[in-house]
Order: sequence, then C-alpha cells, then structure tokens
Amino acid sequence: MPYIDRDTAIKKAIVACIKVVGHGITHIDALKVAECLGEIPVADIAEVRHGHWRQNMYCKRIFYCSVCGRHIEDATQNPKEFFPYCHCGAKMDG
Ligand SMILES: [Zn+2]
Repeated sequence: MPYIDRDTAIKKAIVACIKVVGHGITHIDALKVAECLGEIPVADIAEVRHGHWRQNMYCKRIFYCSVCGRHIEDATQNPKEFFPYCHCGAKMDG
C-alpha cells in the first residue's frame, strides 16, 4: 500500500479547492482534488511491528522477543534500553 505525507496531502487539497473556487465554481471538484493528491510522491516505508522483551521465568537475565522468540541476555533488567529493536525488526516498545 502506498503511503503519502498527511500534511502535504492537506496542503494539496486546499490548493485544489482554492483554484476551483477562484474560478467562480462553488462546488469542489473531487476529481481535481484526487488528481492533486496523486502528484504527491509515495514514501518508501515499511510497517513497524511492535513487540516487547519477555523475561524468562527461570533465569531473570534472559529475555525473549514476543514476536520471534529470540533470546537475549541482559543483566540490567531493562533490555529495551540496550536492545530497542529485535533482529526480526520488531520495535520493542510494547
Ligand atoms: Zn524478534
């Protein structure tokens, strides 16, 4: 699915509406607005998966990813400080 910047889309829609009203037309031309929105470049982004580090119940220094199950060792009891992302790509903010 293509993604566009919301602020840019709003500005484009406003400009499209101003042009229509400026020509004495009192209704909004939806096709013109869609045409303007179609001119916005598409962003190259990936969906963010969210996860969290779960603590092993037998060894408190071992945590595992809630998404992929990968294990890490962390003695600080705050693994997301040093491992904010898992190797699977999950953002550990859950
Ligand atoms: Zn993972």
